[in-house]
Amino acid sequence: MTAPVPGATVLGYPRIGTRLELKRATEDYWAGRLDAAGLLEMGARLRHSVWTDLRESGLEQIPSNTFSFYDQVLDTALLVDAIPERFRHLDGLDAYFAMARGTDGTPGLETREWFGTGYHHLVPEVGRDTRFRLAAAGRSKPLAEYLEARTLGVETRPVLVGPLTFLLLSAASAGFRPLDLLDDLIEVYAELLERLSGAGAQWVQLDEPVLATDLTSHELAALGHAYRRLARLPSRPRLLVATAFGDIGDALAVLAGTPVEAIGLDFVTGPGNLRTLASIGGLPLRTLVAGVVDGRNIWRTDLRRALATCASLLGLAGELVVSTSCSLQHVPLDLDAEPDLEPDLRARLSFARQKIDEVVLLGQALRQERAVPRRDVAMNAPDHRVRARVDVLGDGRPRAEWPVRSAAQRRVFGLPPLPTTTIGSFPRSAEVRRTRADWRAGRIDEAAHDQVVRAEIDRVIAFQERLGLDVLVHGEPERDDMVGYFAEQLRGFTLTAEGWVQAAGDRYVRPPILHGDVSRPVPMTVRWATYAQSRTDRPVKGVLTGPVTLLARSYARTDLPRADIARQLALALRDEIHDLEAAGIGIIQIDEPALRELLPLRRAERAFYLSWATSVFRLATSGVADTTQIHTHICQSWSQDVLAAISALDADVTSVEAARPRTEPLSGARAALFRTGVGPGVYDSRSSRAPGTDEMAQALHHLLQSIEPDRLWVNPDCGFRTREPAEIETALRNMVAAAHHVRRSL
Ligand code: GLN
Ligand code: ZN
Repeated sequence: MTAPVPGATVLGYPRIGTRLELKRATEDYWAGRLDAAGLLEMGARLRHSVWTDLRESGLEQIPSNTFSFYDQVLDTALLVDAIPERFRHLDGLDAYFAMARGTDGTPGLETREWFGTGYHHLVPEVGRDTRFRLAAAGRSKPLAEYLEARTLGVETRPVLVGPLTFLLLSAASAGFRPLDLLDDLIEVYAELLERLSGAGAQWVQLDEPVLATDLTSHELAALGHAYRRLARLPSRPRLLVATAFGDIGDALAVLAGTPVEAIGLDFVTGPGNLRTLASIGGLPLRTLVAGVVDGRNIWRTDLRRALATCASLLGLAGELVVSTSCSLQHVPLDLDAEPDLEPDLRARLSFARQKIDEVVLLGQALRQERAVPRRDVAMNAPDHRVRARVDVLGDGRPRAEWPVRSAAQRRVFGLPPLPTTTIGSFPRSAEVRRTRADWRAGRIDEAAHDQVVRAEIDRVIAFQERLGLDVLVHGEPERDDMVGYFAEQLRGFTLTAEGWVQAAGDRYVRPPILHGDVSRPVPMTVRWATYAQSRTDRPVKGVLTGPVTLLARSYARTDLPRADIARQLALALRDEIHDLEAAGIGIIQIDEPALRELLPLRRAERAFYLSWATSVFRLATSGVADTTQIHTHICQSWSQDVLAAISALDADVTSVEAARPRTEPLSGARAALFRTGVGPGVYDSRSSRAPGTDEMAQALHHLLQSIEPDRLWVNPDCGFRTREPAEIETALRNMVAAAHHVRRSL
């Protein structure tokens, strides 16, 4: 075994800029305020600043091609010319952004969550007609960026989405297996590797996060085949196959059986990797890139523990390189942008820039056998009242059987069959946006803010009455986002000022930090819900964000199991639900759009997750009277096991996304999973297309084949947050007309 020579690297880095320059530039480009040259120029500036940062912080190996104008999987699709027919007439940035976002009438690629990170990638489309080839012969993006960095004097390691991950993330036409295209795809990667090598690249990183999911033996064999073929190339860079997001299990032995020079393993979320590594006798002649600094969460690394992990790995590899567990694109850029954070909390945080320092420190410590500084990584002192309450309430008492509840609710609300409602948010008017910004910046006082919010609620209520909706909402004008609004008011959370991360190519979020025991000091939504209810005789539905979604979309503490954190969140919401109920709000919706986001990558772990996720929802909602109607709303693609869990939430009414292109309709066996009220979206509220009355009436008739009329609700797929005020009226009018029409035929 050769003597280990430790180094330090990161698997990827945020690409959005210190001041969200990427967001601004792409939005300006889409709006026609910036031309292509200006956009490309901004891209170059962002790349330079990343490379400079990484070099100056002392990293020995610097990644490139981690920049993207939208998404790295989309970049890869273009790189290998996997461009669906409907975009073939476009080129350059037009083709790129059309695939990302669609163009009038032509839908873009679907998006899907990237391995439980909250980031959403685009789903490539492949099929029998796909002919992979290397884009733009020789001026492909990885090569161009490698050369660009080189011109700046920075030697980099180009990062590619690996061929197996690319194909397994792709969608294919029915009856076609993307993996059948593997040999063709490998040839394109081979050509690219040769070109990179010709340009001088010493190393290339191939990201294969798909290895943290369950793979069939056929898929594992394909993995071995792919990397044996690539490693056989006569002139190529050295290959680092990087994995992330958990244990890779059997895939490690398969990879070790190929001649790749380096393997990256996640030792933060994948503790089993250490065992697997030992069981195959280590990687005595290879480089092990050890992900010991958490790339997905924002806590400071316990350097002593990380160093101990590294020490235990030394004997298991020819060479050890200290690294992050995944790309740092999932954490905010720089803690220095947060001077106002409470010092005790701030001292425990580490964003992307700080994580580089940690990686470098660990690398140095390993090389010089020098001790790393001791750091305080302790969490907040427990709030004993919260802990005791969790213990006492457990999972709460189940509600009465649905027939009992629904009869009670029918008496109170007297709703017609096929009641109509919406999901919560209404389009944000320019005035509301301005008012929120002015209020946040301290330019207007709370009274002035509240006056505008109330006027907006008046407008939204009047609008819904005019359209004839049965269950109204207040429109959520006071919420800039569905998670931050609650996090701001709950104890145990802190919000950052600039902690932005990309949730998708055109979506940026600022996840709150969930660092302490959670409780709700004062009511959060009651005054707006009751104000809205005071403006109408129809029932107004209170809308809250659910415990799982609050957890999934925050950076959560790691010293408590997630189920326990979720239980605390559920109790805080239980208090809010209680207060809403006491204030006369008889219908309360708990949104859980992120239920699917926390779903473990491994099937074997899903049942456990789904059981606690559903039990915390019931803990939040089970304290109400039979007459109080609990709704839940779930969007984004669901699968059969998730659907079963959704029905186990035991809500009185569940609205689910069902109308977006490529979502499976909720009928037949899938609809039969529900025994309570269900509202499969009858139109896609994220599209500006307004379906006609007939189209929606037909959808309802179809649904009535598997859902009885007293259980079927009529609503769109999701809220209207992203719509313009003028866009929704026709669609909603048609939806109400469709419901009336179908009611008459009952
Ligand atoms: N009530 C929220 C809204 O309408 C739900 C958002 C969501 O499901 N993503 O905006
Ligand atoms: Zn939704």
